[in-house]
Amino acid sequence: MEIDKVYNSKEFEEKIYTMWEKSGYFTPKIDSTKKPFCIIMPPPNANGALHIGHALFVTLQDIMVRYHRMQGEATLWLPGADHAGFETQVVFDKKLEKEGRKRNEVPKDQLLKEMMEFTLKNKEIMEGQFKKLGASCDWTREKFTLDQDIIQTVYQTFEKLKQDDLIYKGSRLVNWCTKHQTSLSDLEIKYEERIDPLYYIKYGSFKLATVRPETKFGDTAIAVNPKDQRYQDYVGKEVEVETVLGKAKIKVIADESVDMEFGTGAVKVTPAHDFADFETWQRHKAEIPEPKVVIDKYGKMNELAGIYQGMKVAEAREKVVADMVEKGLLDETEIDYKYKHNVACCFKCGTVIEPTLMDNQWFIKMTEKPFAMDGKIKRLEYFASNSMGYSNSRR
Ligand SMILES: [Zn+2]
Repeated sequence: MEIDKVYNSKEFEEKIYTMWEKSGYFTPKIDSTKKPFCIIMPPPNANGALHIGHALFVTLQDIMVRYHRMQGEATLWLPGADHAGFETQVVFDKKLEKEGRKRNEVPKDQLLKEMMEFTLKNKEIMEGQFKKLGASCDWTREKFTLDQDIIQTVYQTFEKLKQDDLIYKGSRLVNWCTKHQTSLSDLEIKYEERIDPLYYIKYGSFKLATVRPETKFGDTAIAVNPKDQRYQDYVGKEVEVETVLGKAKIKVIADESVDMEFGTGAVKVTPAHDFADFETWQRHKAEIPEPKVVIDKYGKMNELAGIYQGMKVAEAREKVVADMVEKGLLDETEIDYKYKHNVACCFKCGTVIEPTLMDNQWFIKMTEKPFAMDGKIKRLEYFASNSMGYSNSRR
């Protein structure tokens, strides 16, 4: 028998895989007397071809699955694909851009149709790649996160969480990308070290250090450290201050979180646009007004910013600084142009994250069973009985 000098995988591998699949080898026979072995494949995002990371998990899971199958256990490796909301949107937008098109110019029905086709095409490519890798998963049970039964399970799980009083609505600051018009989790932001000017604004008899003078229209307090001797007489009192929009009254509060070494040791509190300030407000709710939103979801100043309304943040900052200098509220010689700090940016587009106050957001309680740490097993049971193990925060 003559053997080819070069091994031609095409001649053999597809045939072998088809034979495995047709024989029902990957589809377990359910036998309630036997202990089953099951892995739900973390569904890869259907927004492109598989990468080397997928090849790694496929290899590892396939080893485990094949081992258990050979032990005679009813073994299921459940394959799937994730439509992956935002992740797919970003890739799809780039495709549109290459074609010289923009998402907001495509009619909605047409856009949804094209996006679905794009996702399903990628899903098909991925499945072919899984088969080429020899993954011994049960394709008769394959799941896609937009299958009707999966969508229903997600809704039912959500309803059950509500009935069990484990989710609630609240207003919180979120990491907001003004370009992508979405909130991002803490894991979806990257920090960039930047050098920006640090401004020292005159606030009545105070001088406050800030890199964001344009947010001052949202200030609801001045905070100092309770141990700071310099400001003892002011704590708990309202002071009258001159601003670029005229006179205003603002309360001085004492809070442990204020760093006496930073700037002058007195900081402005802007709860609607700063995470630390939002927490400060939560500790002093009884003393100071509600957070004031002054920047909209597109990164533009709103009506509370008076003459600066409609300006983008960067433009407003420049104009506010110039006006402050003119009104003697900011001394140009005191600007520290070499202030180094970390800035949160969107992990996809690099746009600076705008901490934004969102109303009516859903939250999951982390302090009560079954979500508390000591309720670990309960939590697993809860999800085992209520969902298929798929999750996507943006669905
Ligand atoms: Zn973005």
